Amino acid sequence: MLLSASSQPQSVKGNDPLTLCYIDEKKGLGVRTLVDCKAGEAIHRFTGEIKADIEQHSLQIWQDSHICGTEYIGYLSHSCAPNCRLDMDGFRLITVRDICANDVLTIDYAMTEDRLYRQFACHCGAPQCRRWITGRNEPVHEAGKVYLETLDCGQ
Ligand SMILES: [Zn+2]
Repeated sequence: MLLSASSQPQSVKGNDPLTLCYIDEKKGLGVRTLVDCKAGEAIHRFTGEIKADIEQHSLQIWQDSHICGTEYIGYLSHSCAPNCRLDMDGFRLITVRDICANDVLTIDYAMTEDRLYRQFACHCGAPQCRRWITGRNEPVHEAGKVYLETLDCGQ
């Protein structure tokens, strides 16, 4: 029997129970877990190529070092109340709360990145949503200020 790559994703023993998926036009690609996970589980160990420069799907490991070409973690969605975090010392993806199979995995981009490849408006829906996402070490740029002012005027 032939199994096509597009058939229903299956968790294969020995492989990480994750899958890339298309979320929507705004968010693009994301990552889902195929199994239920408990809080505090290391659900994926990642590898990639380490470069000095930031790229669209890279993640910062330490100052001036970014990992790119990763299988999954470069495609994790942002949330201001994420269900996962990255352990950049152990190169592991760790859950911060219980997650159900098929849930989209999220991290807070500002937890790893000093500056982002691109700042963006956030619609994650968390009560503490910051509405405009920057790296942890950079100011909101001009377009972001205009966007936030527009939001404030509308309220
Ligand atoms: Zn948010």
